[in-house]
Amino acid sequence: MQLMNLIGGELTGPVDGLWIENIEPATGQVFSQIPRSNQADVERAVQAAQSAFPAWSSTPLEERAACLRRWGQLIAQHSEKLIASESQDNGKPVSLARSVDIPRAQKNLEFFAGAIEHFASESHIPAGATHIHYTHRKPIGVVGCISPWNLPLYLFTWKIAPALAAGNCVIAKPSEVTPVTAWMLSTWAAEAGFPPGVFNVIHGLGPEAGQAIVEHAQIKAISFTGGTNTGAHIAKTTAGQFKKLSLELGGKNPALIFADCNFEEAVKTTVRSSFANQGQICLCSSRILIEDSIYEQFRDALVAKAQKIVPGDPALAETKMGAMSSEGHRDKVLGYIETAKQLGATVLCGGAAAPAPNERCSQGYFIQPTILEGLDAQCAVNQEEIFGPVITLQRFHTEAEAIALANASNYGLAATIWTQDLARAHRVASKVESGIAWINCWLVRDLRTPFGGVKASGVGREGGFEALRFFTEPQNVCIPTR
Ligand code: NAD
Repeated sequence: MQLMNLIGGELTGPVDGLWIENIEPATGQVFSQIPRSNQADVERAVQAAQSAFPAWSSTPLEERAACLRRWGQLIAQHSEKLIASESQDNGKPVSLARSVDIPRAQKNLEFFAGAIEHFASESHIPAGATHIHYTHRKPIGVVGCISPWNLPLYLFTWKIAPALAAGNCVIAKPSEVTPVTAWMLSTWAAEAGFPPGVFNVIHGLGPEAGQAIVEHAQIKAISFTGGTNTGAHIAKTTAGQFKKLSLELGGKNPALIFADCNFEEAVKTTVRSSFANQGQICLCSSRILIEDSIYEQFRDALVAKAQKIVPGDPALAETKMGAMSSEGHRDKVLGYIETAKQLGATVLCGGAAAPAPNERCSQGYFIQPTILEGLDAQCAVNQEEIFGPVITLQRFHTEAEAIALANASNYGLAATIWTQDLARAHRVASKVESGIAWINCWLVRDLRTPFGGVKASGVGREGGFEALRFFTEPQNVCIPTR
């Protein structure tokens, strides 16, 4: 299978004729080739996008919304193929692609089709006004959307939908690790009704194709989701260009387990929040902070449940945990487990690569769900993002200590708080340094809410009208009333 770029409405190979091998992580085998695009491909895409912008930005918003809705319907129509492809490309179980990734990708497109129809701007008219001010929100122009591999089509559509709805033309770059479903979506752009050049996809490596997008002077905004180091690099690269930037970065998310929690529910959800998608969700819990009086009881219940999760062939319907996204990432995660052992951690379960679930997967990248205790809060394993099925347990005695441990991190994406005490729930949520706080639940999303992190977890917010504000440039217009 050979994937193509989409430039100016045409599916096309890379200018230089270079290709990258794309590997199925469950088998370790090459199953497709993707364009190794560079600055020349990006230049062609920007020219196509610039030509398309005047007409697209003045297209009635109902028509733009209709394109997004038709695209959403095409996802629904092709969902079986998308589910299988997402699983093959990423290593995630088909059950997860079926319940989360692909339906959410459809919802993202349909949500922003609706959101743009309800998006209004402000006017300021004081009593007895001599002048009226109103805010004109204009599309920015050509924008770049760069997405990671962990939720491939889900996060790709989460960016391109608001960008297109707001009237921008897009140069999108999916992760080179998981490009297939973005490519599939690109092949249906014309059928959905997008004129040539409105939506362009450039495949390739981050430091080449991604860097060319970030550096391009005519790309006026970058919406990026990925690692914190990459985000910092993009911020530095664009600093002198005054581009708009939205950065959704890494996390090291605490789960605070108080003694008065609903025990069963907290255990069940913490297992899910720790190991869903092999722990490769930016919102996954990775530091589990447990109140002293229930520490042993909670630890043992968590370990008992985690031990029952056996990584399997992601293509099989019954599999709950699949393969790591790539060999390099598998090795990075195993490296953190080794570091933990060297630092004297107790491995309560897992702690190694998992055996291949079947012959087909004999060369695949599997890791056992791993629970560690006995590590210092400041050590690398508790400070750096591992982004795999590895969690650490820490003990706290007081609410203040729990909050201090939760905040003892450079990251600040999501926190999960488990307590039945309503006042404490609100108090702790307000003191935890995170963009999102879930109380007695996890990963419950309303697409209208602001989504993003603080500290090293990012700058700016996605979601709902926040995303439409990001993808528009406000202009204040002032006119006398008489
Ligand atoms: P990554 O930073 O390596 O890559 C993300 C994207 O950026 C890819 O498309 C990559 O090709 C591109 N890229 C890499 N170098 C670039 C450069 N110099 N210029 C432009 N683009 C470049 O991240 P990843 O490994 O794909 O994803 C995992 C990371 O993403 C984790 O840190 C995770 O926490 C984070 N993440 C964050 C969120 C969030 O919403 N905050 C969501 C999902 C994932």
